[in-house]
Amino acid sequence: MEWAGLHDVDLVLDGSMGEGGGQILRTALGLSAVTSRSFRMERIRAARKKPGLQAQHLTAVLAAAQICQARVEGASLGSQRLAFWPGPIRGGQYEFDVGTAGSTVLVLQTVLPGLGLAKEASELILRGGTHNPLAPPFDFLVEVFLPILRRMGLRVEAELEAHGFYPAGGGQMRVRIQPTNQLQPVELLHRGRVLEHEIYAVLSRLPRHIAEREVETARKHLGWEKKCVRIVEVDSAGPGNYIGIRIQCEQVTELFTAFGQIKVPAEKVGLEAARQAEHWLQAEVPVGPHLADQLLIYLGLAGGGAFRTLAPSLHTQTNLEVVRCFLERVLRIEQQTEHQWLVVAESRR
Ligand code: ATP
Repeated sequence: MEWAGLHDVDLVLDGSMGEGGGQILRTALGLSAVTSRSFRMERIRAARKKPGLQAQHLTAVLAAAQICQARVEGASLGSQRLAFWPGPIRGGQYEFDVGTAGSTVLVLQTVLPGLGLAKEASELILRGGTHNPLAPPFDFLVEVFLPILRRMGLRVEAELEAHGFYPAGGGQMRVRIQPTNQLQPVELLHRGRVLEHEIYAVLSRLPRHIAEREVETARKHLGWEKKCVRIVEVDSAGPGNYIGIRIQCEQVTELFTAFGQIKVPAEKVGLEAARQAEHWLQAEVPVGPHLADQLLIYLGLAGGGAFRTLAPSLHTQTNLEVVRCFLERVLRIEQQTEHQWLVVAESRR
C-alpha cells in the first residue's frame, strides 16, 4: 500500500510528542472531522508500553472515519501510523463496539466534536468498558462534562445500559446528541459555594468490605460526616470496583475517581481519590486536571471563553498543542498564582 506522502495531507503530526499517548490521536481525529483538514500521524502512542493502535484507538479511528466518510490508511491493530482524509460529517444512528474492555467514553470523546456540530441529530450505542482507569468513567461524563457542554449549547444525553469493567468489558451506553451550529463560549473562573458532596463506591461481584474500606478511608482523610457516604452494588459481566468523590458547586461539579485493583489495598484506593479531591479543594479552582484536558477542544471550537484550573499536566499541554495545530484560534495558558492557571480562548482574527 502506498503511504501518504508529505504533500497529500494538510497536517503532519508526531504521535510521540509530549506525553506521546492516545490523546494526540483522539484530538486529531475529532478536529480533523470538524475542520475537514486531513492529517498524517507517525509514531502513534510511541511512549506507551504497547505502542500503536490498541482496540480502543482502532475503534475510535473507525468510528471517526464512519461519521465523516473518511478515507483512512494505517487503520489496523498495532499500527503506529495513520493517514486520515475526512469527508462531510453525517449525524444519524451509529453503533461502535470496542470488542474488549477498552473505554467507550474515549471513543465517544473522539466522535463528539464532529457529531456535536453536525447538521443532523445522532443516537449512538457504544459497547466495551464504561468504567476504566485512565479514562473518564461514565459518571464523569454525565455529572461533570456533559453539563458544561450543555451550557455551551450542545445537548448530549447519555444513559448507562450495562456497566463494563476491565478486563471483562461488556458495558453499554446510549448517547443522544442534539447538535449545535456554533458552540457558545463558557467562563469557568470560580466554582462558587459547595452545594453537595458525597463519597460513593461501586462494586460488582466483589466483597462489600472493599467498598466500605475505600469510602471510610476517603471520608476520614477529608474529614467529612458519615452521612455523605454510599455503597452501590451493580452486576456486570465481570468484577469491578471504583470509588467516586463528587463535589457539586454552584458553577461546576467535579468528580474524582480511583479504581480497585488486585493486590492494591482498598485503603490505598480510597486515599488516592481523597487526595485528588483535596488537591482540587485546596487550590480553589473550578476545573480539575481531567476536565481541563477535555474542555480544550470545545473552548477552541467556541473561539472564546476561559477556565481556571490546576497546573497543566503534560497530557493537557500536549493536547493543547494538537488543538493549536488544527484551529485558527489561540488557546493561551498563563499561571496566575502558585496553584492556579488560566486557559483562555481567543479568535485569531
Ligand atoms: P492511551 O495512550 O492509553 O490512549 P492516553 O495517554 O491518551 O492513553 P490518558 O492520559 O489516560 O490517556 O487520558 C485519557 C483521557 O481520559 C483524557 O481525556 C483524560 O482527561 C481522561 N481521564 C483519565 N483519567 C480520568 C479520570 N479519573 N476522570 C476523568 N477523566 C479521566
